[in-house]
Amino acid sequence: MDVHAAVSERTGSAPGRVNLIGEHTDYNGGFALPLAIPARTTARVRARDDGVVAAESTAPGTEPARFAVDSSPGDVTGWAAYVAGVFWALRDAGHDVPGADVRVDSTVPSGAGLSSSHALECAVAVTLNDLHGLGLDRTTLALLVQRAENHYVGAPTGAMDQMASLYGQDGHVILFDARAMTAEPVPCDLAGAGLSLVVVDTRVHHEHTGGGYGARRATCEAAAALLGVKTLREVQDELVKDVLAQLEDDVMVRRVRHVLTENARVLDTVALLRAGRPGEIGPLLTASHTSMRDDYEITVAEVDVAVEAALTAGALGARMTGGGFGGSVIALTAAADEARVGDAVRAAFDQHGYAPPSVFTVRPAAGAGIEESTQ
Ligand code: ADP
Ligand code: MG
Repeated sequence: MDVHAAVSERTGSAPGRVNLIGEHTDYNGGFALPLAIPARTTARVRARDDGVVAAESTAPGTEPARFAVDSSPGDVTGWAAYVAGVFWALRDAGHDVPGADVRVDSTVPSGAGLSSSHALECAVAVTLNDLHGLGLDRTTLALLVQRAENHYVGAPTGAMDQMASLYGQDGHVILFDARAMTAEPVPCDLAGAGLSLVVVDTRVHHEHTGGGYGARRATCEAAAALLGVKTLREVQDELVKDVLAQLEDDVMVRRVRHVLTENARVLDTVALLRAGRPGEIGPLLTASHTSMRDDYEITVAEVDVAVEAALTAGALGARMTGGGFGGSVIALTAAADEARVGDAVRAAFDQHGYAPPSVFTVRPAAGAGIEESTQ
């Protein structure tokens, strides 16, 4: 074995995620219940001593990029900003990481609401952490990745996606508490319960750097300020209707109602899973969708059609997953109904004249890690 290569190169990977329930709660200090999925992004990183990062990806439409390891937000744009952002966040936190050749390969569909951006950032982050012996724990890496995405890429996302990608566990969903910044595995043996989790990628692209996500976040922050609390999480123990009565603006009332009821739905889902009753969480998933559609107004026609078609075909529950404005839908089905639900969604898309969706199943899979052969 080439000893030098063994110490200067690592390959790490990080999964995409599906959020079972708990949408737009993370930046409100609340709860979410994501799972790491089998689709992963791999980053092979080889250290360089000339202060340059040369990044390339097998993803279609990505050009190789070269930039200074000490670039600043704004210097690198496009896909490579996700890589540059991780280097920037690490160095900004005082970790003097050198340049590198970075090769990215992924099976996580991009822009589908499965958090390919965080899979990429987390893959690079865990690999650099291991390669340079930084010794950073997963929560610290999640916060660094959040800084990269917020300040370098310019997407005002919370920490849920990174926590799922970093803390994911086979056969478990992850209870993410955004206020405490903790990630607790909750058993979720879908196959053992005769269930399938079907994902419908509507192929309607969403854009977190667009206005919709930031506007929702700003409204929640304004509501928290009006209510005199740090985040909407602080009002969980009070009566929801008392809180809503204090707000006059109808849009704000609906936005806050989504956040408060969604937090409650996450905890109800956790209770059912802990009780070994995963087959009963369907109505909570569907209620989450209704709340996102009517109160938070982050769904689009294609995701609403997918949810309706799945439910009509016998899904136990269905909801959009991810930040919204397109992306993916999840449907919980009896394993025997999986194909029928997928067919029904495809037929509904055809009827509406929508482009065919991509339909596949996921299961809770392992989180980010380093390939043993390169350790
Ligand atoms: P999502 O995270 O839901 O997939 P985003 O819009 O947040 O959607 O992130 C998608 C972007 O992340 C892509 O447009 C691309 O810039 C970058 N990206 C994700 N995966 C890869 C990859 N494997 N190679 C290169 N860039 C990627
Ligand atoms: Mg993303």
